[in-house]
Amino acid sequence: MPFAEILGHDRIIEVLRRSLRGGKTAHSYLFEGVQGCGRKKTALALIQALFCTTLPDDACGVCPSCRKIDGGNHPDIHFISPLPDKRDISIEQLREMQHELALRPYEAPRKACIIDPAERMSVSAANSLLKTLEEPPGNALIILLTENAGMLLSTVRSRCQLIRFAPLSPEHVLSLLEESGMAPEAAALVAPMAGGSLKRALELDNEALAARRDAVLSRISQLNVNRIATVFDAAEELSGNRDATLELLDMLLSFFRDAVHLGAGNGEIVNRSVRPAIESIATRRSLPRNLELLESIYETRRSVQRNANPKLALDHLFMVMGDGGR
Ligand SMILES: [Zn+2]
Repeated sequence: MPFAEILGHDRIIEVLRRSLRGGKTAHSYLFEGVQGCGRKKTALALIQALFCTTLPDDACGVCPSCRKIDGGNHPDIHFISPLPDKRDISIEQLREMQHELALRPYEAPRKACIIDPAERMSVSAANSLLKTLEEPPGNALIILLTENAGMLLSTVRSRCQLIRFAPLSPEHVLSLLEESGMAPEAAALVAPMAGGSLKRALELDNEALAARRDAVLSRISQLNVNRIATVFDAAEELSGNRDATLELLDMLLSFFRDAVHLGAGNGEIVNRSVRPAIESIATRRSLPRNLELLESIYETRRSVQRNANPKLALDHLFMVMGDGGR
Protein backbone atom coordinates (compact mmCIF):
# COMPACT_ATOMS: atom_id res chain seq x y z
CA MET A 1 0.00 0.00 0.00
CA PRO A 2 1.21 3.51 -0.69
CA PHE A 3 2.41 5.48 2.35
CA ALA A 4 -0.56 7.83 2.00
CA GLU A 5 -2.85 5.03 3.20
CA ILE A 6 -1.08 4.76 6.55
CA LEU A 7 -2.79 6.86 9.18
CA GLY A 8 -1.23 8.75 12.02
CA HIS A 9 2.51 8.35 11.42
CA ASP A 10 3.27 11.23 9.06
CA ARG A 11 6.58 12.17 10.60
CA ILE A 12 7.94 8.62 10.51
CA ILE A 13 6.86 8.24 6.92
CA GLU A 14 8.53 11.49 5.96
CA VAL A 15 11.79 10.24 7.48
CA LEU A 16 11.52 6.90 5.66
CA ARG A 17 10.74 8.55 2.34
CA ARG A 18 13.67 10.89 2.69
CA SER A 19 16.01 7.96 3.28
CA LEU A 20 14.49 6.12 0.30
CA ARG A 21 15.09 9.14 -1.95
CA GLY A 22 18.65 9.46 -0.72
CA GLY A 23 19.30 5.73 -1.04
CA LYS A 24 20.13 5.75 2.65
CA THR A 25 17.74 3.26 4.19
CA ALA A 26 19.19 1.38 7.16
CA HIS A 27 20.02 -2.34 6.95
CA SER A 28 18.02 -3.11 10.04
CA TYR A 29 15.11 -1.33 11.64
CA LEU A 30 13.41 -1.79 14.97
CA PHE A 31 9.80 -0.59 14.88
CA GLU A 32 8.49 -0.14 18.42
CA GLY A 33 4.82 0.50 19.24
CA VAL A 34 1.61 -1.11 20.49
CA GLN A 35 0.24 -3.95 18.41
CA GLY A 36 -2.22 -2.72 15.85
CA CYS A 37 -0.88 0.83 15.59
CA GLY A 38 0.43 0.38 12.05
CA ARG A 39 4.01 -0.92 12.47
CA LYS A 40 3.58 -3.88 10.14
CA LYS A 41 1.72 -1.86 7.53
CA THR A 42 4.54 0.68 7.57
CA ALA A 43 7.17 -2.08 7.33
CA LEU A 44 5.43 -3.54 4.29
CA ALA A 45 4.99 -0.11 2.72
CA LEU A 46 8.71 0.54 3.19
CA ILE A 47 9.63 -2.75 1.53
CA GLN A 48 7.12 -2.11 -1.21
CA ALA A 49 8.59 1.33 -1.90
CA LEU A 50 12.09 -0.13 -1.92
CA PHE A 51 11.07 -2.83 -4.41
CA CYS A 52 8.78 -0.65 -6.57
CA THR A 53 10.02 -0.44 -10.14
CA THR A 54 8.23 2.82 -10.86
CA LEU A 55 8.57 5.23 -7.95
CA PRO A 56 11.72 6.04 -5.98
CA ASP A 57 10.14 6.70 -2.58
CA ASP A 58 6.70 5.14 -2.51
CA ALA A 59 4.67 2.19 -3.80
CA CYS A 60 2.99 2.84 -7.14
CA GLY A 61 0.50 0.04 -6.44
CA VAL A 62 0.38 -1.15 -10.06
CA CYS A 63 3.81 -2.52 -11.04
CA PRO A 64 4.17 -6.34 -10.78
CA SER A 65 6.26 -6.01 -7.61
CA CYS A 66 3.73 -3.76 -5.85
CA ARG A 67 0.90 -6.05 -6.89
CA LYS A 68 2.63 -9.15 -5.55
CA ILE A 69 3.26 -7.50 -2.20
CA ASP A 70 -0.35 -6.35 -1.98
CA GLY A 71 -1.39 -9.89 -2.78
CA GLY A 72 0.88 -11.26 -0.04
CA ASN A 73 2.92 -13.44 -2.41
CA HIS A 74 6.22 -11.74 -3.14
CA PRO A 75 8.94 -14.40 -3.07
CA ASP A 76 11.62 -12.08 -1.67
CA ILE A 77 9.81 -11.16 1.55
CA HIS A 78 10.12 -13.43 4.57
CA PHE A 79 8.07 -13.32 7.74
CA ILE A 80 9.36 -14.82 10.95
CA SER A 81 6.97 -15.38 13.87
CA PRO A 82 6.73 -18.08 16.52
CA LEU A 83 5.47 -21.34 15.00
CA PRO A 84 1.81 -22.12 15.79
CA ASP A 85 2.27 -24.11 18.99
CA LYS A 86 5.48 -22.44 20.14
CA ARG A 87 6.06 -19.50 22.44
CA ASP A 88 9.38 -18.38 21.04
CA ILE A 89 11.04 -17.79 17.71
CA SER A 90 13.67 -20.51 17.57
CA ILE A 91 17.28 -20.41 16.47
CA GLU A 92 16.39 -22.92 13.73
CA GLN A 93 13.91 -20.46 12.25
CA LEU A 94 16.56 -17.76 12.27
CA ARG A 95 19.14 -20.03 10.64
CA GLU A 96 16.72 -20.92 7.90
CA MET A 97 16.01 -17.23 7.35
CA GLN A 98 19.73 -16.42 7.21
CA HIS A 99 20.20 -19.15 4.66
CA GLU A 100 17.35 -17.72 2.55
CA LEU A 101 18.73 -14.20 2.72
CA ALA A 102 22.10 -15.41 1.48
CA LEU A 103 20.52 -16.66 -1.77
CA ARG A 104 20.05 -14.35 -4.73
CA PRO A 105 16.74 -12.50 -4.71
CA TYR A 106 14.20 -13.92 -7.17
CA GLU A 107 13.07 -10.63 -8.63
CA ALA A 108 13.52 -7.77 -6.16
CA PRO A 109 16.76 -5.79 -5.94
CA ARG A 110 17.29 -7.31 -2.47
CA LYS A 111 15.49 -9.53 0.01
CA ALA A 112 13.53 -8.37 3.03
CA CYS A 113 12.52 -9.94 6.28
CA ILE A 114 10.06 -8.97 9.01
CA ILE A 115 10.48 -10.50 12.48
CA ASP A 116 7.36 -10.17 14.62
CA PRO A 117 7.27 -10.02 17.60
CA ALA A 118 11.02 -9.61 17.94
CA GLU A 119 10.93 -9.83 21.75
CA ARG A 120 9.90 -13.47 21.36
CA MET A 121 13.23 -14.49 19.86
CA SER A 122 14.94 -16.92 22.20
CA VAL A 123 18.28 -15.65 23.54
CA SER A 124 20.19 -18.01 21.29
CA ALA A 125 18.08 -16.95 18.29
CA ALA A 126 18.70 -13.28 19.09
CA ASN A 127 22.42 -13.89 19.47
CA SER A 128 22.56 -15.68 16.17
CA LEU A 129 21.00 -12.62 14.53
CA LEU A 130 23.67 -10.13 15.60
CA LYS A 131 26.00 -10.58 12.67
CA THR A 132 23.08 -10.63 10.22
CA LEU A 133 21.84 -7.32 11.56
CA GLU A 134 25.23 -5.75 11.13
CA GLU A 135 25.91 -7.05 7.66
CA PRO A 136 22.79 -8.57 6.19
CA PRO A 137 23.67 -11.07 3.47
CA GLY A 138 22.87 -9.78 0.01
CA ASN A 139 22.19 -6.32 1.41
CA ALA A 140 18.87 -7.59 2.76
CA LEU A 141 16.54 -5.32 4.71
CA ILE A 142 15.55 -6.59 8.14
CA ILE A 143 12.70 -5.07 10.13
CA LEU A 144 12.02 -6.12 13.71
CA LEU A 145 8.64 -5.32 15.24
CA THR A 146 8.27 -5.06 18.99
CA GLU A 147 5.91 -3.68 21.59
CA ASN A 148 8.81 -2.85 23.84
CA ALA A 149 12.36 -2.36 22.61
CA GLY A 150 13.53 -2.65 26.22
CA MET A 151 12.73 -6.36 26.12
CA LEU A 152 15.32 -7.01 23.42
CA LEU A 153 18.98 -7.69 24.02
CA SER A 154 20.85 -4.39 23.98
CA THR A 155 23.20 -5.89 21.41
CA VAL A 156 20.22 -6.37 19.08
CA ARG A 157 18.81 -2.91 19.79
CA SER A 158 22.07 -1.15 19.14
CA ARG A 159 22.42 -2.73 15.70
CA CYS A 160 19.06 -1.43 14.47
CA GLN A 161 17.67 1.97 13.70
CA LEU A 162 14.95 2.42 16.31
CA ILE A 163 11.69 4.00 15.16
CA ARG A 164 9.03 4.64 17.78
CA PHE A 165 5.39 4.51 16.73
CA ALA A 166 2.93 6.47 18.87
CA PRO A 167 -0.44 4.85 19.56
CA LEU A 168 -3.08 5.89 17.03
CA SER A 169 -5.39 8.73 18.01
CA PRO A 170 -9.01 7.72 18.75
CA GLU A 171 -10.05 9.61 15.61
CA HIS A 172 -7.71 7.52 13.47
CA VAL A 173 -8.89 4.29 15.10
CA LEU A 174 -12.46 5.41 14.46
CA SER A 175 -11.91 6.03 10.77
CA LEU A 176 -10.04 2.72 10.34
CA LEU A 177 -12.90 0.89 12.06
CA GLU A 178 -15.48 2.55 9.87
CA GLU A 179 -13.36 1.70 6.83
CA SER A 180 -13.29 -1.93 7.98
CA GLY A 181 -17.08 -1.98 7.92
CA MET A 182 -17.87 -1.69 11.64
CA ALA A 183 -21.18 0.07 12.29
CA PRO A 184 -20.55 3.73 13.16
CA GLU A 185 -22.19 3.43 16.58
CA ALA A 186 -20.09 0.43 17.59
CA ALA A 187 -16.96 2.08 16.20
CA ALA A 188 -17.63 5.26 18.18
CA LEU A 189 -17.94 3.16 21.34
CA VAL A 190 -14.74 1.12 21.03
CA ALA A 191 -12.41 3.65 19.34
CA PRO A 192 -11.77 5.76 22.46
CA MET A 193 -11.04 2.67 24.58
CA ALA A 194 -8.62 0.94 22.24
CA GLY A 195 -5.42 2.48 23.57
CA GLY A 196 -4.41 3.53 20.06
CA SER A 197 -4.53 0.01 18.66
CA LEU A 198 -6.76 -1.04 15.79
CA LYS A 199 -6.26 -4.66 16.81
CA ARG A 200 -7.42 -3.97 20.33
CA ALA A 201 -10.42 -2.03 19.01
CA LEU A 202 -11.47 -5.00 16.92
CA GLU A 203 -11.12 -7.30 19.92
CA LEU A 204 -13.14 -5.23 22.37
CA ASP A 205 -16.46 -6.76 23.15
CA ASN A 206 -19.08 -4.14 22.51
CA GLU A 207 -21.73 -5.07 25.01
CA ALA A 208 -19.38 -5.72 27.88
CA LEU A 209 -17.63 -2.47 27.08
CA ALA A 210 -20.87 -0.48 27.04
CA ALA A 211 -21.82 -1.89 30.44
CA ARG A 212 -18.40 -1.09 31.85
CA ARG A 213 -18.47 2.43 30.44
CA ASP A 214 -21.87 3.09 32.02
CA ALA A 215 -20.67 1.72 35.37
CA VAL A 216 -17.59 3.95 35.23
CA LEU A 217 -19.58 7.07 34.34
CA SER A 218 -22.05 6.39 37.12
CA ARG A 219 -19.32 5.82 39.74
CA ILE A 220 -17.30 8.88 38.85
CA SER A 221 -20.38 11.10 38.87
CA GLN A 222 -20.89 10.18 42.53
CA LEU A 223 -17.33 10.71 43.79
CA ASN A 224 -17.28 12.95 46.83
CA VAL A 225 -14.50 13.05 49.43
CA ASN A 226 -17.01 14.14 52.06
CA ARG A 227 -18.66 10.77 51.61
CA ILE A 228 -15.48 8.76 51.55
CA ALA A 229 -17.29 5.48 50.83
CA THR A 230 -18.03 6.80 47.33
CA VAL A 231 -14.28 6.95 46.73
CA PHE A 232 -13.28 3.58 48.17
CA ASP A 233 -16.30 1.74 46.74
CA ALA A 234 -15.57 3.09 43.28
CA ALA A 235 -11.91 2.07 43.51
CA GLU A 236 -12.93 -1.35 44.81
CA GLU A 237 -15.40 -1.94 42.00
CA LEU A 238 -13.38 -0.48 39.14
CA SER A 239 -9.85 -1.61 39.93
CA GLY A 240 -8.74 -5.02 38.78
CA ASN A 241 -5.47 -6.45 37.67
CA ARG A 242 -2.97 -4.12 36.04
CA ASP A 243 -4.36 -4.49 32.50
CA ALA A 244 -7.97 -3.92 33.57
CA THR A 245 -6.92 -0.85 35.54
CA LEU A 246 -4.95 0.55 32.62
CA GLU A 247 -8.01 0.02 30.45
CA LEU A 248 -10.15 1.89 32.98
CA LEU A 249 -7.64 4.74 33.03
CA ASP A 250 -7.70 4.90 29.23
CA MET A 251 -11.45 5.20 29.46
CA LEU A 252 -11.19 8.02 32.00
CA LEU A 253 -8.59 9.77 29.85
CA SER A 254 -10.91 9.67 26.89
CA PHE A 255 -13.85 11.01 28.97
CA PHE A 256 -11.82 13.87 30.40
CA ARG A 257 -10.19 14.72 27.08
CA ASP A 258 -13.69 15.07 25.68
CA ALA A 259 -14.84 17.11 28.68
CA VAL A 260 -11.90 19.45 28.17
CA HIS A 261 -12.83 19.79 24.49
CA LEU A 262 -16.38 20.71 25.45
CA GLY A 263 -15.19 23.09 28.16
CA ALA A 264 -12.98 24.83 25.62
CA GLY A 265 -15.95 25.32 23.33
CA ASN A 266 -15.03 22.60 20.86
CA GLY A 267 -18.14 20.49 20.23
CA GLU A 268 -16.31 17.61 18.51
CA ILE A 269 -15.92 14.68 20.91
CA VAL A 270 -15.13 11.01 20.46
CA ASN A 271 -17.53 9.64 23.11
CA ARG A 272 -20.53 10.80 21.16
CA SER A 273 -22.81 8.00 22.35
CA VAL A 274 -22.63 9.23 25.96
CA ARG A 275 -22.56 12.94 25.22
CA PRO A 276 -24.89 13.98 28.12
CA ALA A 277 -22.62 12.28 30.66
CA ILE A 278 -19.56 13.97 29.15
CA GLU A 279 -21.37 17.31 29.23
CA SER A 280 -22.06 16.87 32.91
CA ILE A 281 -18.36 16.16 33.57
CA ALA A 282 -17.55 19.32 31.59
CA THR A 283 -19.96 21.53 33.50
CA ARG A 284 -19.41 20.08 36.97
CA ARG A 285 -15.93 21.60 37.24
CA SER A 286 -14.03 24.48 35.67
CA LEU A 287 -11.93 23.92 32.57
CA PRO A 288 -8.62 24.43 34.43
CA ARG A 289 -9.77 21.91 37.05
CA ASN A 290 -10.64 19.33 34.39
CA LEU A 291 -7.22 19.90 32.82
CA GLU A 292 -5.61 19.21 36.20
CA LEU A 293 -7.65 16.04 36.55
CA LEU A 294 -6.62 14.95 33.07
CA GLU A 295 -3.00 15.33 34.17
CA SER A 296 -3.74 13.38 37.39
CA ILE A 297 -5.20 10.53 35.36
CA TYR A 298 -2.10 10.48 33.14
CA GLU A 299 0.09 10.44 36.24
CA THR A 300 -1.93 7.57 37.73
CA ARG A 301 -1.62 5.65 34.48
CA ARG A 302 2.15 6.09 34.51
CA SER A 303 2.41 4.89 38.09
CA VAL A 304 0.23 1.82 37.47
CA GLN A 305 2.40 1.06 34.47
CA ARG A 306 5.43 1.33 36.72
CA ASN A 307 3.90 -1.27 39.05
CA ALA A 308 1.95 0.82 41.56
CA ASN A 309 -0.82 -1.10 43.31
CA PRO A 310 -3.93 -0.56 41.14
CA LYS A 311 -6.42 -0.26 44.01
CA LEU A 312 -4.29 2.22 45.98
CA ALA A 313 -3.59 4.25 42.85
CA LEU A 314 -7.32 4.52 42.16
CA ASP A 315 -8.10 5.36 45.81
CA HIS A 316 -5.77 8.31 45.45
CA LEU A 317 -7.02 9.37 42.03
CA PHE A 318 -10.69 9.18 43.03
CA MET A 319 -9.95 11.18 46.17
CA VAL A 320 -8.54 13.93 43.96
CA MET A 321 -11.47 13.66 41.56
CA GLY A 322 -14.01 13.75 44.35
CA ASP A 323 -12.62 16.92 45.84
CA GLY A 324 -15.14 19.45 44.61
CA GLY A 325 -13.66 22.26 46.72
CA ARG A 326 -11.33 23.52 43.98
ZN1 LIG B 1 5.28 -0.25 -7.87
